[in-house]
Amino acid sequence: GKGDVHGEVVVLGSGPGGYTAAFRAADLGKNVVLIEANNSLGGVCLNVGCIPSKALLHVAKVITEAEEMSAHGVTFAKPEIDLDELRAFKDSVVGKLTGGLDGLAKGRKVKVVKGYGKFTGPNMIAVEGADGTTNVSFDQCIIAAGSEPVALPFIPHDDPRVIDSTGALELKDIPGRMLVLGGGIIGLEMACVYDALGSKVTVVELMDQIIPGADKDIVKPLMQRIKGRYENIFLKTKVTAVEALDEGLKVTFEDDTGKSFSDTFDKVLVAVGRKPNGKLIDAANAGVAVDDRGFIAVDNQQRTGVSHIFAIGDVVGQPMLAHKAVHEGKVAAEVASGEKRAFDAMVIPSVAYTDPEVAWVGMTETQAKAQGVKVEKGVFPWAASGKSLSNGRSEGITKLLFNPDDQRVVGAAIVGTNAGDLIAEVALAIEMGADAVDLGHTIHPHPTLSETVNFAAEMFEGTITDLI
Ligand code: FAD
Repeated sequence: GKGDVHGEVVVLGSGPGGYTAAFRAADLGKNVVLIEANNSLGGVCLNVGCIPSKALLHVAKVITEAEEMSAHGVTFAKPEIDLDELRAFKDSVVGKLTGGLDGLAKGRKVKVVKGYGKFTGPNMIAVEGADGTTNVSFDQCIIAAGSEPVALPFIPHDDPRVIDSTGALELKDIPGRMLVLGGGIIGLEMACVYDALGSKVTVVELMDQIIPGADKDIVKPLMQRIKGRYENIFLKTKVTAVEALDEGLKVTFEDDTGKSFSDTFDKVLVAVGRKPNGKLIDAANAGVAVDDRGFIAVDNQQRTGVSHIFAIGDVVGQPMLAHKAVHEGKVAAEVASGEKRAFDAMVIPSVAYTDPEVAWVGMTETQAKAQGVKVEKGVFPWAASGKSLSNGRSEGITKLLFNPDDQRVVGAAIVGTNAGDLIAEVALAIEMGADAVDLGHTIHPHPTLSETVNFAAEMFEGTITDLI
């Protein structure tokens, strides 16, 4: 048709993976088309994920810190929350970043085609937009279609009181009693926000710990703190039914002994995971294989089974994290542009931006045990950190894992305020093959939380044995 376009590189989806890939390929001289169904660029991360959640978590942190100041002799009045203003703040943060992307795309002459794209052949995507179909042909394509929240069959998702993370971020109201279904990172971050805003929060998790996958010791201080603040935390418990009644959502739970009980909530936030969007793009028309769950398999250059089509981000697998999508986006764009590049990162850090934050990278102790890998550890409790105590907090832990043969650091788990920032140093240490002496002999600024990494290495080496 008239409006049909061609791109040397066409990117399907403009999340952190997609926009990174598009910009990188354009910087390397390619003529790039970026296809996006949503009104604004940025995908889940910028619009309904990482960024709006962090804006609200910042506000939550200020509220709870102000509350806790009374223990140090400073008492603030009870916070007055203007939800419209708060929402406007969150939206303005999102708007600055997504608007920034529009500018970056223009600056690079990346053509943005708005609408939902599906493959119609090995070199063609048909995009259904507001003003009809645009056929976008390509020499090479990068699929960055992302993921969406998983819905559960026995839950009335059409009831407005049942929400997912996107609904929670909309901040329509502050429910009196809220159930967070799923004790993973996304559920717990939203729990943290609504608890600070004044909701009575209950969390239910099927596994025997919150944030399954994270180091057990590191999760304990978070568990301890939220136990004191939330109404209930049910572990090893599943939800078997949700009934929409006039007076609320009646939820039936079943614990691991088979005992059933029920309770009624004003809102239920379903945060039980995300599913990839691979099944929605007619990938078969291009010959690209999609597995039963909707994931697209790729090699270490992000190539699918079809050599001129790449895939990156949530749609290629776990962990579903923005920084992984970005990294893969660069790899795919560079390979598509003829550069020699592969995904060879050793580790991908994970962070829950809860209060306290929980962060880990590389091997966890649980994994080491399960895989029979021998590790030794250095652990530093933040109760002995001057900076942490000055912050009025003492529950943090920095745990480093080392290979006993060469003392190289192979993993870390950190819980405490700003753990997410601290974990980056250990990621670098692992990538560079640093050992305990490197971390222990590097002078860290005092007093900072970053010292806890230095101290944990020294605990391992035995160069400090007594905690202050
Ligand atoms: P996405 O961000 O999912 O973007 C895909 C884009 O493609 C979307 O804009 C979609 O509209 C578009 N699209 C899909 N199919 C088509 C099609 N056929 N045609 C046109 N357009 C299409 N990760 C972190 O690392 N840190 C965090 O703090 C963090 N917080 C999060 C908080 C929440 C509440 C949620 C839900 C997620 C969070 N994540 C976080 C995860 C992170 O958002 C994702 O890992 C990341 O967005 C994945 O990027 P992506 O590029 O693969 O795809």
